[in-house]
Amino acid sequence: MLQLAGIDVEAVSTGGVETCIDLPGFQLAFDLGRGPDFAVARELVAFTHAHVDHLSGVVWHCATRALRGMRPPRYVIGRENEAAFRDLFDVWRRLDRSQFPHELVVIGPGDELALQGGRFLRPFFAPHRAPCQGYAVWSRRSKLRAEHRALPHEEIARLRAAGRADLFEVLEVPEVAFCGDTLIDVVEREEVVRKARLLILEVTFLDERVSVEKARASGHVHLKELAARADLFENEAILLTHFSPRYTREEILIALDRGLPPRLRERATPLLNGRG
Ligand SMILES: [Zn+2]
Repeated sequence: MLQLAGIDVEAVSTGGVETCIDLPGFQLAFDLGRGPDFAVARELVAFTHAHVDHLSGVVWHCATRALRGMRPPRYVIGRENEAAFRDLFDVWRRLDRSQFPHELVVIGPGDELALQGGRFLRPFFAPHRAPCQGYAVWSRRSKLRAEHRALPHEEIARLRAAGRADLFEVLEVPEVAFCGDTLIDVVEREEVVRKARLLILEVTFLDERVSVEKARASGHVHLKELAARADLFENEAILLTHFSPRYTREEILIALDRGLPPRLRERATPLLNGRG
């Protein structure tokens, strides 16, 4: 388990193989990959897109929760995938002769889904080869309005007890943004990607073995594109994911050390799960 910007993250991610990001503190996972064991406990899963390395574990996840007597899962998907997602489960019901109980939540950019603990989930568009949406987890905090901050504690308590509605203002804070698979363009397009406390971003390609042009044609981010935007990121921590399986652990670390300016490198953690 990683802890980044104070947020627990359990994750596996290798480009073209599997991606599943679990946030135990938010009781939410993004994508399921091939269905890692740690994700079985997660009732709410938001899918970015329907590529096999992000979604194929869904039937196993649903079946395993039923087998273990756990509550039916809730799956969040984009509108573009609703019909095919329903078909997928219909086919598996016919094949498996099981019910695969689950709840489908269909949302897109502009929508909002309430999470536990007063947080909420908002999708945003991520440009990729298949229809894809990233997600941001936001929290709402009430903060004393600037004009009241100089007041003594007793006076604030008195106003509060008197039910003064204008005492506090509500702030929305982006805690985590996960882009799924995406072109780097998402960084410029979506403010939340630059400002979330923790950003989880794919960087599939790292060096000249795959050019920037080829990376873009496949709908993915190249390290050079990330480095060129180093000044845009205001995030406290960045988890870099989805490295192509062609790179070893050592090669990834060297590429990041050489390729990223120190001010970005020092906040970036590569996800190196199971890599030799
Ligand atoms: Zn993809």
